[in-house]
Amino acid sequence: MLRLVQEIWIYNPLEPSNLSNEKRITNHESQTPLEVKTMKKLSQTQSIPSKTIGVLALQGAFREHRHILERLGVGVREVRLPADLEGISGLIIPGGESTTMAKLMMDYQLKQPIRDFAAHGGAIWGTCAGAILLAKDIENQVDAHISTASDQPRLELMHTRVRRNAFGRQVDSFQASLEIVGMDQPFKAIFIRAPVFLEVGDAVQVLSRVGDQIVLAREGKLLASSFHPELTGDPRVHQYFLDMTLEP
Ligand code: GLN
Repeated sequence: MLRLVQEIWIYNPLEPSNLSNEKRITNHESQTPLEVKTMKKLSQTQSIPSKTIGVLALQGAFREHRHILERLGVGVREVRLPADLEGISGLIIPGGESTTMAKLMMDYQLKQPIRDFAAHGGAIWGTCAGAILLAKDIENQVDAHISTASDQPRLELMHTRVRRNAFGRQVDSFQASLEIVGMDQPFKAIFIRAPVFLEVGDAVQVLSRVGDQIVLAREGKLLASSFHPELTGDPRVHQYFLDMTLEP
């Protein structure tokens, strides 16, 4: 377990050439018996939607989401252009670096098409940097005492105010066992330069916390996690999102 945490610590979502770490993290051997058992159970007994899930593939950990969805038997499309949103039933915005991803989202003219996708009932899940992009308001933590409102581009879809890097820097990355609403066993969650949700709107359902900090929340067909379920191999949050895409 400790070895896994150390490997994750040196994982840098900004470094696409970091393939050996990527391989180790997605390696089945690093999964606990619970994860392997859950994956088998889900792929054998649950109804897997035949629809396609899009993964925003501008930057960050999109391949890891792709792998876990494929292992669940789901069709996946990497989304880079507005036309790629056509016909998908859900969109995952991965972790990475929200400022870079936001800039690319604007350069590729994806902001309004993604907002339209949500307005027409498409489900969207943002993990870490992706959760920052979903937020109405973003706060940058300058130091322990000072934080500033950020004007970085974002989708402004979810009624959350997020604080970036709320647990510190890359070296302060950590793993925590989370109680998640609706899950009967704890979820091993990995936090890398993670945000927290400082405030959430009335329509937002809090699904999990670390201490008193909100780390998983849902508003209608929007889901936001400040941690990285795609790095652990435990598919339960992915399955939760797939179920959301099937809701009317
Ligand atoms: N701290 C990063 C940001 O602000 C997010 C880190 C992550 O996605 N792991 O964009």
